[in-house]
Amino acid sequence: SIAVAGAVKSFGDQRVIDGIDLELAAGSVTVVLGPSGSGKSTLLRAINHLEPLDRGVVTIGGETIGVRLRTGRDGTQRYKELPERQILRQRSRIGFVFQHFNLFPHLTALENVAEGPVAAGVSRPVALRRAQDLLERVGLGDRAGARPRQLSGGQQQRVAIARALALEPSVVLLDEPTSALDPELVGEVLGVIRSLADSGTTLVIVTHEVAFAREVADHVVFLDHGRIVEQGPPAQVIDTPQHARTRDFLARVR
Ligand code: ATP
Ligand code: MG
Repeated sequence: SIAVAGAVKSFGDQRVIDGIDLELAAGSVTVVLGPSGSGKSTLLRAINHLEPLDRGVVTIGGETIGVRLRTGRDGTQRYKELPERQILRQRSRIGFVFQHFNLFPHLTALENVAEGPVAAGVSRPVALRRAQDLLERVGLGDRAGARPRQLSGGQQQRVAIARALALEPSVVLLDEPTSALDPELVGEVLGVIRSLADSGTTLVIVTHEVAFAREVADHVVFLDHGRIVEQGPPAQVIDTPQHARTRDFLARVR
């Protein structure tokens, strides 16, 4: 499970995350909706501590991410940043898929997927064999030797998803995974995400694909100005939104 408690984050004097509390069950699929600039990416990046919060805390499976609670000599408790090495170890257990794939251009698809496990100390033959299995899982078993520029955007994004799974993460975060794709390539990537959802991986997905959200999400969160305007099952938030801002947003993206 993922919990976000009392999250606040500002850039300069702009509050981008303005008091967010969330509880997401293990194995659940959460879709985060909201207008541009509402704080969706910042929230996702805060979950894996790419964007440290000013206040509040994120826990995954009960473990606080990026910080630990320290008791001072006077008995007061405060969060203190973990050493970089520990943050990297935690982050390696949280898969992240970016809008723009972010594959290594000089590595093959197979090497891109195997790279994380090799860096984490898995032997190269084992890492490559697992990488091959993962590429098969995303329908790219026959493109293992291709470099990113030889692949379509949809294929590159599927490699990126395989890579995000390589360290067997407990959670996978996806930030607009299809919004950089040509429309005809969106379906293949959504198909892979749907199969991940069906396999019980805990997913948090930022997307404007409302029909997809309606179909795969257990929980939908609508953000605006760094706050949760409403949240609940898709039948509630998408089909019968309670707030005008949610209705306006849905009318614009559908
Ligand atoms: P989009 O749908 O366009 O991706 P978003 O909901 O993901 O939007 P964020 O990227 O979280 O929005 O940004 C929220 C606000 O924070 C925006 O106003 C953005 O300009 C600002 N912001 C984000 N990152 C930074 C940063 N590193 N420094 C300063 N401002 C930032
Ligand atoms: Mg964003």
